[in-house]
Amino acid sequence: MNRPGGLPTRVGNGIVGVRDVAYAVDGVTILDQVTLQVNAGEVLAIVGPNGAGKSTLLGLLAGDMQPTAGHVEWGDGRALKDVPLADLARTRAVVLQETSVAFAFRVVEVVRMGREPWRGTQAEDDDVPAVATAMAATQVDRLAQRRYPTLSGGEKGRVAMARALAQTPSLLLLDEPTAALDINHQERALAQVRALARAGDGVLVVLHDLSAAAAYANRVAVLQAGRLACVGTPEEVLTAELLSEVYRHPIEVLRHPHTGALLVSPARGSGSAAPRELALAVCEGGSAT
Ligand code: ADP
Ligand code: MG
Repeated sequence: MNRPGGLPTRVGNGIVGVRDVAYAVDGVTILDQVTLQVNAGEVLAIVGPNGAGKSTLLGLLAGDMQPTAGHVEWGDGRALKDVPLADLARTRAVVLQETSVAFAFRVVEVVRMGREPWRGTQAEDDDVPAVATAMAATQVDRLAQRRYPTLSGGEKGRVAMARALAQTPSLLLLDEPTAALDINHQERALAQVRALARAGDGVLVVLHDLSAAAAYANRVAVLQAGRLACVGTPEEVLTAELLSEVYRHPIEVLRHPHTGALLVSPARGSGSAAPRELALAVCEGGSAT
């Protein structure tokens, strides 16, 4: 599908990034000294404990919030706040942690909302196939005529994902999109975003499932108390030592006996050592940005 009117997103490799950003509310610092960019062609997973600042970081990258300090930049070097909203809407889709739909719209109507940014453009011709493809990919076609508020949490999550996919964005910003999904739909959703990244899109996804992050992300960024503790490949970042410190719970990182895939699990045996108390984990493997 073509994207006339969208922004050039292949300028360099970065689509959007934050540089030295801080974000504070009522004098409380929620994010500090964070530098990170989402590249075309990658799935970047953001992980970290509750309250670490993951959703705040996603809000800054989406342009929904302005940083207290530092810069949020589009790939062509422009400040994100200077990018016209209509261009932004055609280029990036955001799935928030909680999706509220004001009226009792039918599912198909909610998914069609993803096409709104293309109204009046040549890409309007793609509306029907884009909506159909998105609904099929998330398996919400059989829910098409249901009223959104009557859906289960997982079904709502899949519809929110379908709306984002229907938008045919080049950048997807997803906040815990798999939180309410069963294993089948979690794997489908992550395989789908991985395929989009392979095709050249950029995907930032907040995840709690660290094994899923290991399996589907090209890079993983660990946020801890508003700071980036580590960024790198899953192999570099997802170590028992770092994760045990960041989550303040003993965590084991194992390898699948056949595939070698990283499997991350809380240590549950009685012999598990308590995590060491550290102010801020130091990343040994990954780079700072
Ligand atoms: P995460 O997504 O990693 O769980 P968030 O980015 O949602 O964390 O929030 C980070 C921290 O900032 C949390 O402790 C949260 O309570 C706090 N926070 C976020 N927004 C506000 C706000 N508007 N006022 C006060 N505290 C906030
Ligand atoms: Mg959050």
